[in-house]
Amino acid sequence: MKSKGFAAHAANADLAPFEFERRELRPNDVALDIAYAGICHSDIHQAREEWGPSIFPMVPGHEIAGVVTSVGSSVTKFSVGDRVGVGVYVDSCRECAPCKAGLGNYCVEGMTGTYNGFERDGKTVTMGGYSNNFVIDADYAVKIPNNLDMSGVAPLLCAGITLYSPLRHWKAGPGMKVGIIGLGGLGHMGTKFAAALGAEVTVFSHSPNKKDDAISMGAHKFVSTNEEANFKPLRGSYDLILNTVSAEINLDPYLQLLKLDGTLVMIGLSGKPYPIQAGTLLGARRSLAGSMIGGVPELQEMLDFCGKNNIVSDVEVIKANYINTAYDRTIASDVKYRFVIDASTF
Ligand code: NAP
Ligand code: ZN
Ligand code: ZN
Repeated sequence: MKSKGFAAHAANADLAPFEFERRELRPNDVALDIAYAGICHSDIHQAREEWGPSIFPMVPGHEIAGVVTSVGSSVTKFSVGDRVGVGVYVDSCRECAPCKAGLGNYCVEGMTGTYNGFERDGKTVTMGGYSNNFVIDADYAVKIPNNLDMSGVAPLLCAGITLYSPLRHWKAGPGMKVGIIGLGGLGHMGTKFAAALGAEVTVFSHSPNKKDDAISMGAHKFVSTNEEANFKPLRGSYDLILNTVSAEINLDPYLQLLKLDGTLVMIGLSGKPYPIQAGTLLGARRSLAGSMIGGVPELQEMLDFCGKNNIVSDVEVIKANYINTAYDRTIASDVKYRFVIDASTF
C-alpha cells in the first residue's frame, strides 16, 4: 500500500516529505486513513537520537486517530468506517507472561514500536503516524468513542494512556494528594485524569504563565518550580508524584515532598542519568518507580473513560509543513498542550 508522510533522514536534519510502502493486508489486519497524528516529545528524542542510535529514514508518530478503510478476512472487531486508534506499539511476542496479562508494552522480548523498530520478523522497519494511512493487526488497535473530537483524541493514544496507567496502578482517587511535574502533553492529561479520578492535584511547572490553564484543567494548586522556597512548606505531604519532564531535573526536592510510603514515578525520559539521594528514599520508606505507556486493554479502558467523562487533549492542529517548527516550540515548552498534525496535509 502506498503511503506518504514526513520523515527524519538524520539526527541533525529537518523532517521532510517522504513516500513509502506499507504491507498489504494480512487476515487479521485493518487499514486506516489517518485523520490526526499527535507530536509526542518521544518523537523528538528519537528523531534526534537522544535515546541512542535510531533507524533512518524514520516516519515518527504513535498517537494516531483514523477511520478504518478495509479489514482482513478474519477481522471481527472492526468494520469499514469505524473510528480507530493506534498507540505506541503495534505487536509483541504474545506468549510471555506480560503479553498474556495484556501488558504487551512490557513484553519480555520487547514490544514492536509503532516506528523506529522492527516487525517480529526482525527485518521490516516500522513506520509511524506522520502519514496519510496505516496498517495494523486488529488485536493492537482500539476503538474511539463516537462522542469525542478526533483531533483531541489522537494524543490520548500515548500521552493519555501514559498518565492514566500509573494513576490507576497507584490508585489515585479521593483522599490522595497527587503531584504532576511538567504541564506539557503528558502532564496536562495527567492533570485532567487525576482530577477526574477525585484526587487532590498539584501541578509543578517551570512556566508560571501556565497557572490559569492548570487550574482550568482541574488542578487544585499550581507551584512554580523556579523558586526553591515554594517546596519547603509542601515537604512530606504527597502520596504520588508523576514526573513528566522531558529534560533531566534534580529529583531530590520532589522525593522530599513525598509522605511515608509515597512514590515518585518516572515517566519523562531525557536519555541522561539522574543522581539519587538514597537518604531521602529511606528517610520515609519512599519509592522511586517507572511506568511506560499501558497495555492494549487498558488503552481501550482509558478511551472509554474519556468518552464517559468527555475528556480530550487540548490541541493545536497544524499542517505537515509546520512539524519542524512544532518540534522547536515543544522543546521550548511552548505548546498548549499538544501539536496534532492534520493528516490531510501530507
Ligand atoms: P512536552 O509536551 O515537551 O512536555 C514536557 C514538559 O516538561 C514541558 O511542557 C515543561 O513543562 C517541562 N520541561 C521541559 N523542559 C524542562 C526543563 N528544562 N526544566 C523543567 N521542566 C521542563 O513532552 P511530553 O510529550 O509530555 O513528554 C514528556 C516526556 O515523557 C518525554 O521525555 C517523553 O519522551 C516521555 N514519554 C514517556 C512515556 C512513557 O511511557 N513513560 C510516554 C511518552 C512520552 P512546564 O512548562 O510546565 O514546566
Ligand atoms: Zn509518545
Ligand atoms: Zn511478550
